[in-house]
Amino acid sequence: MKSLQARHALLADTGYQLTVLSQADAAGAHLPAFAHKLRETGLLPLRPTSLRVMQINVGKMCNQVCKHCHVDAGPDRTEIMTRETMQQCLAALAQSDIQVVDLTGGAPEMNPDFRWLVEQISALGRQTIVRCNLTIIVANKKYHDLPEFFAKHRVQVVSSLPHFSAARTDAQRGEGVFGRSIRALQMLNEVGYGVEGSGLQLDLVFNPSGAFLPGNQASLEREFKQRLLREHGIVFNNLLAITNLPVSRFLEYLLESGNYESYMEKLVAAYNPTAAENVMCRSTLSVSWDGLLYDCDFNQMLELPVAATAPQHIRDFDEAALNARAIVVNQHCFGCTAGAGSSCGGATT
Ligand code: SF4
Ligand code: SF4
Repeated sequence: MKSLQARHALLADTGYQLTVLSQADAAGAHLPAFAHKLRETGLLPLRPTSLRVMQINVGKMCNQVCKHCHVDAGPDRTEIMTRETMQQCLAALAQSDIQVVDLTGGAPEMNPDFRWLVEQISALGRQTIVRCNLTIIVANKKYHDLPEFFAKHRVQVVSSLPHFSAARTDAQRGEGVFGRSIRALQMLNEVGYGVEGSGLQLDLVFNPSGAFLPGNQASLEREFKQRLLREHGIVFNNLLAITNLPVSRFLEYLLESGNYESYMEKLVAAYNPTAAENVMCRSTLSVSWDGLLYDCDFNQMLELPVAATAPQHIRDFDEAALNARAIVVNQHCFGCTAGAGSSCGGATT
């Protein structure tokens, strides 16, 4: 499988994705506008609460090509953050109260300056989260010591494992991914990750394998913990249940499987005002590989930049102006407000 971009698919064009998201269904009916729902809830314009997390997407290159990927990442993607842009991120951090830096990709570890960036964030006394896809740890000898490196810098590791069964994980993430993920989890456990009392946090991310909302996060966590311990001797801290947003390759899946309309209707019907109050964009700033600023990683992938009242590039970081901005919303946002809510930290209610 290749990225949408490498296949020259229509959906590689973000303008086309936004057109699909705004279209009427087959019966000619329009879904309610997300902004309208927010207005009914008294949340329009949606404003930040306070900036707590800087999420940096250090590049779209990945060793995997998962079916549901909202980044359209893969080995054929070459966009990568330079050290100069990282330095601009660090300068912004140094002048802000942001305590958490969330590194994502692609596979963030494939950026040649990844380790340097983690060291600099540590030197600033800030917490690093890495969204590690697990298989990167065993993909090449040069990544085998990542667990030790993460432990040295007390990095919080957040890793996708869509299911505790090999078949369901491989169906979503690629042949053999489950087995390699299990080996990587064991390597993380060996250095203390997920082990009680170690202070090294290892969280797993569950996302549904089809056009449905995730089940109850606490029940899923119990089930994952039992099965992974019993069958593979693996321990971890928290399971984060995430809803798939209709963006990029998951949007492609929805359209090709004929599930798009019913999925959107499900998301709209499950709109939860409390989840809307807690959406992650209210406390997160998203930086793309080229330093441009977005309200979240999904807006980044749809090329919906932060409002024009705020700086557009990390080199012009201005916390007050960013905190005063109105967050840019669109129809994909229904994925964050459905049911128990969804964010990079799992359920929000
Ligand atoms: S979902 Fe993550 S691991 Fe999979 S292709 Fe996208 S960035 Fe890579
Ligand atoms: S998709 Fe982004 S902008 Fe929309 S509600 Fe979710 S986090 Fe906020």
